[in-house]
Amino acid sequence: MERLRTTLRRIDGRGYGAYKDLKGSYALPGFALHVDHVQGDPFAAPSRVRVRVAAAEAGFPSDLTADRTRRVALADFLARAVAHAIRARPQGRRGMGHSGEIGICPATQQVIERSAVATGPDGIEARLTVGLPARGRTVLGREAEAMLLDDLPRIVAASLLHARLDAAAVRAHVESVEDQRALRAWLDGAGCVAFVSDGAVLPRASGIDERPLREGALPFRAPDSLAATVDLPHAGPVRGLGIPRGVTLIVGGGFHGKSTLLNALEMGVYDHVPGDGRERVATDPTAVKVRAEDGRQVTRVDISPFIDHLPFGKGTRAFSTPNASGSTSQAAGIVEALYAGARVLLIDEDTSATNFMIRDARMQRLVTAEQEPITPFLFRVRELYEREGVSSVIVMGGSGDYFEVADTVLMLDAYVPRDVTAEARRLALPHQLDGAIGALKALALAEPPGRFGALSAARGRREARIDVRGRGTLRYGEHTIDLSRVEQLADAAQTRAIGWLIRRWAERHAQGGRPLVEGLQAVLDEVAEEGLDVLTPWPMGDLALPRLFEAAAAVNRVRS
Ligand code: ADP
Ligand code: MG
Repeated sequence: MERLRTTLRRIDGRGYGAYKDLKGSYALPGFALHVDHVQGDPFAAPSRVRVRVAAAEAGFPSDLTADRTRRVALADFLARAVAHAIRARPQGRRGMGHSGEIGICPATQQVIERSAVATGPDGIEARLTVGLPARGRTVLGREAEAMLLDDLPRIVAASLLHARLDAAAVRAHVESVEDQRALRAWLDGAGCVAFVSDGAVLPRASGIDERPLREGALPFRAPDSLAATVDLPHAGPVRGLGIPRGVTLIVGGGFHGKSTLLNALEMGVYDHVPGDGRERVATDPTAVKVRAEDGRQVTRVDISPFIDHLPFGKGTRAFSTPNASGSTSQAAGIVEALYAGARVLLIDEDTSATNFMIRDARMQRLVTAEQEPITPFLFRVRELYEREGVSSVIVMGGSGDYFEVADTVLMLDAYVPRDVTAEARRLALPHQLDGAIGALKALALAEPPGRFGALSAARGRREARIDVRGRGTLRYGEHTIDLSRVEQLADAAQTRAIGWLIRRWAERHAQGGRPLVEGLQAVLDEVAEEGLDVLTPWPMGDLALPRLFEAAAAVNRVRS
């Protein structure tokens, strides 16, 4: 500590570059400070530090770090505690630019493995950014001293010591996440693809605010005929809606909560913070939201089960285009999801191409099957389930054609779910689709393409720069990858991690024609084994673990 103080006093008033002398490790009272990277000027990206508190000092009961789930949950709690302590500190400005700012990568409503805080048997490490104070380009040593030797220790003491935290809240956080994992693991054995508990609050505060709607939200209540009760390790028995495997239709009037339910199912592949309202919504971890994404790049995808004999004989078994239509993009999205191992597809009419979803009887008479390249999803959805074991949950308020193919029909009536399967069966027109479906060739996909030359590391160039612009834009070297319509990406920190994941995949696993999914899975296995740090040359605090599906989605959207 004295060494740090001496250095700061020595460089006070000197040029900003003198801050470089801070690089190194220091023992402060109760924790170690590692200054990993020092910014070049006061307006550059802030400097990166790590603080480490030894296990004995931090004092967390050892059972809270007993396995990966618990470590992730505890780290998530602590990252939020650090953020809270940072906000609680008096925000005196300490110079210009980012001077005096202390930061930690912000968490979303989801509990995801993140690199901002790591917990383990030997202690806790938090990764922070600090804006080293300056006036002009002059070091403000006294301000830096106050920041690193007063503010920082106070933040550490308020957020990383068990004795200073609400012990019951810490434990409740960890147990809630453990319950969510148990709930998701329960699904398969129960023959379900998703579960929504009674009391869940599904609507969000607004279209740009992922926190729960506070006022006027109607809590979920499962209809008796579709209700299931799950025994959770900590919460005990919990009643809710079990969505069975097969084809499930969500119907109902406009603005009655259909998309809100589907959106909750999309995010149900992640754990949520207690109090989110969706912390007892769990979805099969391989569920993929598929939507139309006109204009997207598609590279060598077999869309022939859905789109065939395009005008002028353009083949579709290895379909590529820099500018997909609504229907071709949705077909490609489904096939890519299947390539990656999706067992559940989530589809909303709001974000679908109509001609991809349905073609009614009159249109079939006017435009014959020979003239129409598109086989609507309606004709394939049963086959997908019966032959491939892939379930679908479809929001469809605008067409009754899906009554013929649905196993379960759920109606939302002013946000209240009702089981209307029997009524929908009575209204179905039996054998209506038999002719069209019977004439189809069986669904059989060509092998996914093996190599993606455009991202290969072996191009004689320097390492690709990785940068994100919010959740939806990943810059990877010369490529700008648009992920804005990949809806199950929860967090910009995941987007960033995907960039690093792609780099490692390109360097180590992309050779020899190995399929994309297999290579990406190999990197994710490494991360599971060794943590997110395995992806980066130095410790970073702003990564969050993505799923295989979103990582593959990024590679699949590269324009080449
Ligand atoms: P739909 O897809 O049926 O047209 P949405 O899911 O878009 O309807 O929901 C319409 C509106 O109702 C949204 O503003 C949403 O936040 C709100 N909403 C959805 N579910 C609930 C609920 N359970 N309680 C209160 N408001 C809700
Ligand atoms: Mg809707």
